[in-house]
Parts: sequence; structure tokens; C-alpha cells
Amino acid sequence: MPRVDSDLKLDFKDVLFRPKRSSLKSRSEVDLQRTFTFRNSKQTYTGIPIIAANMDTTGTFEMAQVLSKHTLFTTIHKHYSVEDWKNFAANHPECLEHVAASSGSGNADLEKLCAILEAVPALKYICLDVANGYSEYFVEFVKTVRGKFPKHTIMAGNVVTGEMVEELILSGADIIKVGIGPGSVCTTRIKTGVGYPQLSAVIECADSAHGLKGHIISDGGCSCPGDVAKAFGAGADFVMMGGMLAGHDQCSGEVIEKNGKMYKLFYGMSSDTAMKKYVGGVAEYRASEGRTVEVPYRGDVENTIRDVLGGLRSTCTYVGAAKLKELSRRTTFIRVTQHCSFPAGGD
Ligand code: 5GP
Repeated sequence: MPRVDSDLKLDFKDVLFRPKRSSLKSRSEVDLQRTFTFRNSKQTYTGIPIIAANMDTTGTFEMAQVLSKHTLFTTIHKHYSVEDWKNFAANHPECLEHVAASSGSGNADLEKLCAILEAVPALKYICLDVANGYSEYFVEFVKTVRGKFPKHTIMAGNVVTGEMVEELILSGADIIKVGIGPGSVCTTRIKTGVGYPQLSAVIECADSAHGLKGHIISDGGCSCPGDVAKAFGAGADFVMMGGMLAGHDQCSGEVIEKNGKMYKLFYGMSSDTAMKKYVGGVAEYRASEGRTVEVPYRGDVENTIRDVLGGLRSTCTYVGAAKLKELSRRTTFIRVTQHCSFPAGGD
């Protein structure tokens, strides 16, 4: 008989922060920087723990150049060549502290990752990204990569439950990517019926990871700065964004003009668009689990960064957290039936 877990699981839209008395005078006093030492690599990180997704539209070298100025992080997508990486490292060595090289779990991916890490020794982060982090094969893959790169910090995912977070950490990963189905261009929930409401996934996975001195990334589902704050409030160490960073100058792709309005293309990494671009069509055995959308063109990503960081500082002020580090300890969420009186996100 199938089991039904009847515990209520929540999404960002189901909660709001309860304001708390605070001695902070202004949001400019809030410190968003965090310092972490990672469990397996033993490396130390300092920065504002917001990450551009390793999608080919947002995980670009151009994005990294702007984000790293603010100490934000970029997981660079896996489709750049070793030569591209060499040029980037030679011309922008200051960015290398805040970028990761991404890889899937295929043999060709691993070979390329090894070549990139050899060509760019200053690169310290690896992002191992598969749609379904629950396969035994992926666990073995994480162990293999950890064996080859004992000192690199490894991000791995995606998963949404505590037991799998623990297994990946014990297999050598430092930071676990959490999120199945919440992405703005993800159709996994529609195509497969699989998923987990993101706020609850983050609360539960953070607890498991922190018990082992590991870390997590809340990946996907943030559609406005308030959602980013809620992910941190729920216990995420890092928050990854795709859609919120889409449509900017720093994203790949051309600006499209339609009826006097400007757009840029944004698509899931397993959408028809991405599949056609990189592997010449959707492989027969898998459904496309990503959408393609035209997002309004939004100019320089600097403005969006300011908006997100400003929102986050303000959240901290409302709950009396002088530092981002204190936000989850100061968080009480209230359940709501409506989190905002007009649709969030978009322009
Ligand atoms: P967003 O910030 O746009 O809500 O979510 C970004 C995340 O969506 C990415 O970091 C990645 O985990 C996920 N994602 C990107 N492309 C796809 C796709 O084609 N299919 C699915 N299922 N998820 C995707």
C-alpha cells in the first residue's frame, strides 16, 4: 500500500517573517557576509552567499565578473571550453575566489572538469549537478571526484531530503544543493509528479547538513528578494538563483524585440532549447523537464543585485538580525494564505 506522509510541507509563498523588536537603527548596519569552513575540503569561504545558477544563460563569465565584485558567487555552466577557462582565469584572476566549475556525472564531463582544474589551479570549487541526486551512481561519482580532488570544495545535488543530504556529505561533498521541482523554468513536478515544497526541504535538509557540519544551497523557487530572505531564514547557507538573474546584459543570448518590447530567452537546462543546442535534440529515454520563456530585458545585473541585497538587509532589520548569520536564529515564520496582495516577481 502506498504511504502518505500527511505532515504539511510549505513553500516560500506559504509563510512570512514575524517582525521582532530590534536595536538596529538602519539596514545599512546589517552585515551580509558569511565565513564558512567546509567539512571535507577544510577550505574557508568568505562572501555574501548568493549564487548564480549554473544554467548556460546565468552561469556566465560575464555574470561572475559583476557578482564577484559584490562577493557573490557564480557556478559557471559546464559548456565553456578549457580554452575559455584559461582566458577567463588569465584576464580575471580576482574572480576565481567566487566561482565554481560545473560538471554532470558523465565520463566526458569528468574528463573536462579534470582538464579545467588542471589548467586553472586557483579554482577551488566544483559543482556536481544532476537532475536526480538520488542515484547510487551519483553517490559513487561524488566519491570518485572527492578522491581525485581532496582539497577542492564540492557542491553536489540536487536532493530534497535529510537522509540523502547526509549520504552525499559522507561521500565527500561539502555543500548540498537542495531543490527538486521549484525552478522557474522547471517542469519536473508536471512531467513526473515528483517534488518537495522548497521551504520545508530547506528547513529539513539544513538540519541534517548542519548536524554533520556540512552546508546547503537552497536552489530554485526564489521569485523575489523576499523569497531569498525566506530561504536564509529557513536555514540555507547559500541561495541559488536562476530566473531572478535572467534577462540581464550579463546573460548569454541576444535581446529580442517584439511589439516594441525587449526580451531575452531563458530556458531550463533540460528544456528542448538546451537539448537542441548541446546534444542535438531531446534524448529518447527522457522527457524534457524544462521550459523556455522570454523574460523582459532588464539591463545591467547590478541593479537587481542591489535590489536583492537591499531586501535582505531590510529583512534582517525587521527581525533584529545584525548579521545574516543571525537571521535563521531570529526567524519565526507565520503561515499565511496569501503572502502578497499582487503577484510577486516580474516587472
Ligand atoms: P529559479 O531560480 O529559476 O527558480 O531556479 C533555478 C534552478 O532550476 C537551477 O539552479 C536548477 O536547479 C533548476 N533547473 C534549471 N534548469 C532546469 C530544467 O531544465 N529542469 C529542471 N527540472 N530544473 C532546472
